[in-house]
Amino acid sequence: MQSLNEVLGEQLAERRRQHLYRQRKLLASPQAANLILDGKAVLAFSSNDYLGLANHPEVIAAFTAAAQKYGVGGGASHLICGHSIEHHQLEEELADFCGRSKALLFSTGYMANLGVISALVGSGDLVLEDKLNHASLLDGGLLSGARFQRYLHNDMASLDKHLHKDARRKMVITDGVFSMDGDLAKLPEIAAICSQKDAWLMVDDAHGFGVLGASGGGIAEHFGLTETELPVLMGTLGKGFGTAGAFIAGSAELVDYLVQFSRPYIYTTAMPPAVAAATRASLKLVKTENWRRQKLQKLVAQFRQGAANLGLELMPSPTPIQPVMVGSESRCMAIGEYLWQQGIHVGTIRPPTVPKNTARLRVTLNANHSEDDVARLLSALESAFAAIAEDNLL
Ligand SMILES: *Cc1c(COP(=O)(O)O)cnc(C)c1O
Repeated sequence: MQSLNEVLGEQLAERRRQHLYRQRKLLASPQAANLILDGKAVLAFSSNDYLGLANHPEVIAAFTAAAQKYGVGGGASHLICGHSIEHHQLEEELADFCGRSKALLFSTGYMANLGVISALVGSGDLVLEDKLNHASLLDGGLLSGARFQRYLHNDMASLDKHLHKDARRKMVITDGVFSMDGDLAKLPEIAAICSQKDAWLMVDDAHGFGVLGASGGGIAEHFGLTETELPVLMGTLGKGFGTAGAFIAGSAELVDYLVQFSRPYIYTTAMPPAVAAATRASLKLVKTENWRRQKLQKLVAQFRQGAANLGLELMPSPTPIQPVMVGSESRCMAIGEYLWQQGIHVGTIRPPTVPKNTARLRVTLNANHSEDDVARLLSALESAFAAIAEDNLL
């Protein structure tokens, strides 16, 4: 019999052969336009800190003050003695922000998705998800034990067809902003189909909150969808809000039900109260500092125009997620490495995160970037694509 390490070693070697081996770069700075990664100063287009709040002085000050007052650890689960005033007030403020009756905090977005889907549906039910949904939504669907199917990306005919099946409960789940493509779910149409077919709609708006909508209320605000039209709204706090954690917003019944039945809510330690306090400070900035969203829009327009002029293949994305399609994994890695040598960090995204032969550079913009930063990225992309073409690399 092979030992554990022999079995794992073979699979790791196979992973390298496929150009799919992943490595972590060591970060030695706060999130900002410029990072120290693996000991090197780089201009980064790779974080999800879209509004530039992860290292904001007011957010840090709120965190520090709350840590002085409450200490660091959450200490216990929400249902025992870990539900602090800071958590509770943040929940009320998030519900108000989303135009929903109630909100409930989770420790991470991954857990929120597992926790909601597995609490709301099970055996005998049907879960339909967009093919390009985030991994945590797919895992939630599988974990629930419901019949789990995926419809074609943003394809209403495909969704409608699947909804003809008989089931006790039907739930339709989609990303609001697709995390690796940057495009928006066709929510008004999806909501209309769900209402006709008596299906419950859940939207994961991890990349929309803070970025979309006049006051940063995300895709629900962008499309003006009410609690009735969109009953299960999920957001994360580690992206546009610049802190950590996640929440579900919806009816009082939904939140009460999750408190009773959602295992990833119940059986985990509450997030540190100081994180909730920091998030309250960042929520204020999200709501009031419109210039951050306006600046992002300008940077997005500048990047798209410049990339189109270079003949690069972009995706139909109006958001700060601006992937540049490459296709082959090895070519994508070579371009990423070339950019790195030029002092620029861009995420290289490969299967299984995205479908086969759609490896891409996941360029993300944030409010800390300047127009000069974007110009530098465009010029590095131009020379990277030229160099890779010349070398006839791979
Ligand atoms: C990042 C992300 C999550 C997970 O959120 P975490 O708080 O990082 O665990 C869930 N859904 C989508 C669409 C995401 O992009």
